[in-house]
Amino acid sequence: MNCPRCDSLFIQTTFRDVCDSCYKEEEKLFELVYQYIRKRENRTAAMQQVIEATGVEEELIIKFIRNGRLKLAQFPNLGYKCERCGGMIREGRLCVSCSTSLKSELQLFKDEERRKQEIQERDKRLTYHVKENSHPNK
Ligand SMILES: [Zn+2]
Ligand SMILES: [Zn+2]
Repeated sequence: MNCPRCDSLFIQTTFRDVCDSCYKEEEKLFELVYQYIRKRENRTAAMQQVIEATGVEEELIIKFIRNGRLKLAQFPNLGYKCERCGGMIREGRLCVSCSTSLKSELQLFKDEERRKQEIQERDKRLTYHVKENSHPNK
């Protein structure tokens, strides 16, 4: 596949989703972030501080968090944005309130779909009934 970072062709493995040279580059950046954040005085740094101090893009830091290389348990103020509302989260893709409301929206959608289907079924039966009644021999 094509490397999402530099677009060169490479063979994807379960451990790598970028090409060799980008992987090395990411390793370097990870070290940079890690060296920064592991210092006692930087442990409580927020995402923005880490980005400014290391120059590493937020997306990549989030990737490090998502694949478990940066353990948020050790860094209380590190987190990333909820994909829906932009609120700070530390796991998953959505904050608690967004995932709750998304679930209820999904339920509403399902209910609506079921209702539509029921109406359709009823209409079908009704049409069938009408056809039966309009039989020419009657
Ligand atoms: Zn690459
Ligand atoms: Zn949210």
